[in-house]
Parts: sequence; C-alpha cells; structure tokens
Amino acid sequence: MDIRKEYLEFFKSKGHEVISSMPLVPDDPTLMFTNAGMVQFKDIFTGAVPRPVNPRATSCQLCVRAGGKHNDLENVGYTARHHTLFEMLGNFSFGDYFKEDAIAYAWEFVTVNLALPIEKLWVTVHDSDDEAFEIWSKHIDPSRIMRFGDKDNFWSMGDTGACGPCSEIFYDQGEEHFNGPEDKMGGDGDRFLEIWNLVFMQYERSSDGTLTALPKPSIDTGMGLERVMAIKEGVFNNFDSSNFQPIIKKLEELAEKEATSETIGSYRVIADHLRANSFMLSQGILFGNEGRPYVNRRIMRRAVRHGYLLGFREPFMAKLYDTLCDIMGSHYSELVEQKSYVKEQLTLEEERFFKTIDSGMTLFNEELKNTKDLFSGEIAFKLYDEKGFPLDLTEDMLRDRDIKVDVEKFEELMSLQKAKAKAAWKGSGDSATEGDFKTLIEKYGINEFVGYNTTTFESKI
Ligand code: ATP
Ligand code: MG
Ligand code: MG
Ligand code: MG
Repeated sequence: MDIRKEYLEFFKSKGHEVISSMPLVPDDPTLMFTNAGMVQFKDIFTGAVPRPVNPRATSCQLCVRAGGKHNDLENVGYTARHHTLFEMLGNFSFGDYFKEDAIAYAWEFVTVNLALPIEKLWVTVHDSDDEAFEIWSKHIDPSRIMRFGDKDNFWSMGDTGACGPCSEIFYDQGEEHFNGPEDKMGGDGDRFLEIWNLVFMQYERSSDGTLTALPKPSIDTGMGLERVMAIKEGVFNNFDSSNFQPIIKKLEELAEKEATSETIGSYRVIADHLRANSFMLSQGILFGNEGRPYVNRRIMRRAVRHGYLLGFREPFMAKLYDTLCDIMGSHYSELVEQKSYVKEQLTLEEERFFKTIDSGMTLFNEELKNTKDLFSGEIAFKLYDEKGFPLDLTEDMLRDRDIKVDVEKFEELMSLQKAKAKAAWKGSGDSATEGDFKTLIEKYGINEFVGYNTTTFESKI
C-alpha cells in the first residue's frame, strides 16, 4: 500500500486541498527547521494571515527534528521510532471542523484504510478534555482511553505560536517489547508506538508565556509515515522497513560485512543521517560552523564516525545516494535534480573529516584511558578545535559508557578563543570590506583548523 497516497486521497475525498511539502528552512527565525506539518500554516491558525478559501488542507511534510524545541538527534539509533528527518502526514482545519470530525476521520483512516486491529489501538486525551473523552468513547472502549497532563497531551510548535491540548493514537506492539521505566503510552520505550497526534488548536502562546484564545478553534494533526509503514510491513523497528532496508543492505555491501547486533546501531544511524544530510543539501543548507549548516555538519560527522567504526577510511555516503533516490526520489524530485551537487558536497565534507578523524580517535581513546566519569574539557576542546569533532559527537561517543564531558571547561576555552580572535583583529575598520571581514571573524572566530574555515566562508558569503 502506498500510505502517503492513500492518506492524501482519503483527506481529499473529505474536501481537503492537497498542499505540497514546504522547505525545511521555515520563514521564521525562531524556528531551526520545519518540525511539523502545521508550520506552513502557523499564521493562518493565529489569524495573522487570512484563511484560504478552502479551510481544509492536507499534506505530507518533510520534517527535521535535530535542534530547537523538538530535537530527536540523541534518540536516533537508540529507539526504534525516531529519525532526524521524517515525513509527517497531516490534515488541517482552519476554523472549520473541530474535535468531532477530526477524531472520526482519524479513526476511519486507521481502522478502515490502514485496517489496523482495534484491539491493538489505544488513545490518550488531555486530563481536562472531557469532550474528547466523550467523542472517543463512541469509537473505542473507554477502558482504552488514557488521560495525561500537559507533558504528554499539550502540543506546541516552539516557545511561541499556536498550540493546544491534543489526543494521540498508539499502537501496542506487544508486551515482549520494553516500554521504558514508565510502562505507559508516551513512555521512553517502543512498546506503545505513538502513531498520530491530533492537536486541538485553541491558543496562541506569546513570548511572555501567556495563552490567548485563537480567533477560531482549529485542527492540526501529524502522523509519522515511517512508523505507519513499519507497522503495515509487520516490523517492529522503523529501520527494518522498506524505507531504510535498501540503504542498510547497500551499506553492508560497501562495508563488506553484515550488520550484527553489536553494529546494527551504526548502520541505522548512517541510513538516517544520509536522509537528513541529503535533503538539507538538496534544499541549499550547506555545511558550516553556525546555525543550520552546523546542524547539518554535526549530523554528517556523527554518520562519518559510525562509518569509521564500520571500517570506512574514505568517503562512502555518496555511494548510498542512488539507493536513497530509488526510495524517495519519485516523490521528492529535488533529490534527483540535485544528484551530482549533493553527492559532491557529501564527499567534500567527508573528506574534510576523514583527514583528522584518525588522529582525533587516537586522542579520544588515549584520554578515555585516564577518564573515570568526567571527560576532560581541554581534550574535548582540542578535539573540536583541531580535529573537527563537534562537542555533541564527543558526548555521543561517551554515552554508552555513562561518562560526561566537562562542558564548563569546554565553554570556558571556547569563550577564550573567541575573545582572542577579537583581540587579534588589528584593522582600522574603515573600509567596507574590512568591516565585513571583521564581522565574519567576530561571528565565527579565527580557527586554526583549515578544514572548517573554507566551508564556513564558502557557505556564508
Ligand atoms: P514521540 O513521543 O514518539 O517522540 P512526539 O510526541 O514527539 O513523538 P509529535 O510532536 O506529536 O511527536 O508529532 C506527530 C507525529 O509525528 C508522531 O505521532 C509520530 O508519528 C511522528 N514523529 C514525531 N517525531 C518523529 C521522529 N523523530 N521520527 C519519526 N516520526 C516522528
Ligand atoms: Mg518526540
Ligand atoms: Mg509523544
Ligand atoms: Mg506526540
């Protein structure tokens, strides 16, 4: 079943306009990436821009959750359900239908179109939402409806903007699957898999935190395509579905070894990060030392480090790209159109890191021998500054051993370096070009590590 198509056609048949996925870079400086389907409609919800003629829309939105309020970078490879880049199916009502229809549509799609067995489904509502509880009770036995507080059942895009209580649909993958210390829906584990969030958009949160009622209550929903695909294909882990398997197979071929229970995490992380890096590049987000380009770089260097663990000593990501195009290229033409450019950029960035990763890993391993539970901030900084290891990469490398980095020391050295760079500036500041250059130095610092400088300046000027 082509779930993406099935979903969009279902909502089209219910009077929704099918809208294309918006770019990953939102038109909003407070938001790092488009992190949900509603982002392109956020000003319609708040009433800042007029409602479209058709107050119903549906989309399949590419989302990135690797920075800002919704950040899943640390989850990838550790859970069976999180990706840095994923596709979110959604239906939206701009002051048109509300809870009753939103719930009825979702239930019909899940039980009829997807034909998921009712005995495996669970639903959650916000503590205070008796109305949603009542509506759900018409569809599902009330014993399968759980009530939770704000942490689980109140959704917001970021610190400000449209938000509201929500109701979620979960799929029970079976008691053999661990569901984390809190064995409940919304817990850390993967037994109860959250598939769909129905947000009852009722408020706008301002920067001082106050909530004001929206002009019209609206609906915003989001369902993760990769999760639903995994369920329909009968696999527990998203990475075992046809969305990722061809990439993992290709990687096994390139690495000349099959994944084992010890190494599978690395294969999954690479498959995930390949998607995020490729889509970001295809949409013009380069590699750099700040903001979005730095997130792109951090994701890439994590992937390269996992490649290193699998034995790669030279670029390999571009060799997986055609497989990614086979899977997603027919729906996202930018992947195919930008093929040679993306492959080239992937390889250039990998080459940069491969130059220093070897000596970086040696430095890291040497220091590890002397470490009990706090990894030296000086070495973490040296790894960052001279070897191109972002702080979060070093932290990730220590995670399984339960060792933390001395972040305070790291930050201290970082500020010192920035101050030095500023002081080293001797220009008069008179000419326009000098002024521009000074701004750049203030922004990025003087960095001894040449591999970095070239890209940052390339990407920013
Ligand atoms: P979770 O609790 O599993 O982290 P969430 O509550 O953060 O999910 P929502 O913000 O409610 O997720 O997003 C709506 C839907 O998008 C989720 O129900 C899920 O199907 C999907 N989704 C969210 N985050 C991810 C992710 N990182 N990778 C894949 N799908 C995701
Ligand atoms: Mg989440
Ligand atoms: Mg959740
Ligand atoms: Mg949720």
